[in-house]
Amino acid sequence: MANILWLQGGACSGNTMSFLNAEEPSACDLVTDFGMNILWQPSLGVELGDNVKKILKDCLSGVIKLDIFVFEGTVVNAPNGTGEWNRFAGRPMKDWVRELCDVADFVVALGDCATWGGIPATAPNPTDSQGLQFLKRDNGGFLGADFKGKAGLPVINIPGCPAHPDWVTQILVAIATGRAGDLALDEFQRPKTFFQSFTQTGCTRNMHFAYKVSTTEFAQRKGCLFYDLGCRGPMTHSPCNRILWNRVSSKTRAGMPCLGCTEPEFPFFDLAPGTVFKTQTVMGIPKDLPTGVDKKGYIKLTGAAKAAMPAWAEEDIFVV
Ligand code: SF4
Ligand code: SF4
Repeated sequence: MANILWLQGGACSGNTMSFLNAEEPSACDLVTDFGMNILWQPSLGVELGDNVKKILKDCLSGVIKLDIFVFEGTVVNAPNGTGEWNRFAGRPMKDWVRELCDVADFVVALGDCATWGGIPATAPNPTDSQGLQFLKRDNGGFLGADFKGKAGLPVINIPGCPAHPDWVTQILVAIATGRAGDLALDEFQRPKTFFQSFTQTGCTRNMHFAYKVSTTEFAQRKGCLFYDLGCRGPMTHSPCNRILWNRVSSKTRAGMPCLGCTEPEFPFFDLAPGTVFKTQTVMGIPKDLPTGVDKKGYIKLTGAAKAAMPAWAEEDIFVV
């Protein structure tokens, strides 16, 4: 039996909504098949008011063993470091978070806001928001770079806006069944099993990427979304085209560019007008190139690709 407590800070509830749609395994499977005891969750918990406070206090005092603490949303520090703009159960949420992280065996940051600040921490960051152990790319965040849960791991970051539900349930199962030691984490503390490959890995538009054929409108079935519509698939670590959404699709399959939501810099360009859904270029070369490709290599690659492009690459080859 693993006890899980889940709280929400500066958040839109998107990761909770995503989690409730999990299928492999589902949220119910966590309880019925994997022995998890969800002590409280913002959308599932039946307790209110003092009864929630009692659960939190029992976790802090050790009356209830806190195996996994899941935090969704940013840690809000405003105004002036007090955290008063985000109160919960009678005190600033950030005070609960600090103390609960100290007693939990494992701490999981869920979604971009909890991992590195996400949209709330975008400049000018009016809520003075931080992720649990990062602020954007900088290690540290609210808990500090040296923080480790009682079981010895740093915060396990599951980013995304929102995170895919099965990334969440599968990581919770791994922890609850004693396999946390198998979780290799990358430099941003993301489980490598999900975040080592790219969004582009498995994208159905890879052939169009290779021949530099561009998609020019949302939902167009042919072409690649990199050249005009700002797709960040070649430089974003996510399994969105390996572990499909709702088992059937992904953004790029539906004709919508990847916005890079699993990377610390999301939202890119701080959402400046004209930067979203548009490839930023300098002299016709994208400012952000596929990971590992330099400018010279890109010019050579795309020149050769254009020259070698077969006629079918401009056709809609998908049959409904
Ligand atoms: S750039 Fe985007 S649309 Fe094009 S192949 Fe890569 S992931 Fe797919
Ligand atoms: S396709 Fe890109 S923007 Fe969409 S969920 Fe995956 S990583 Fe995030």
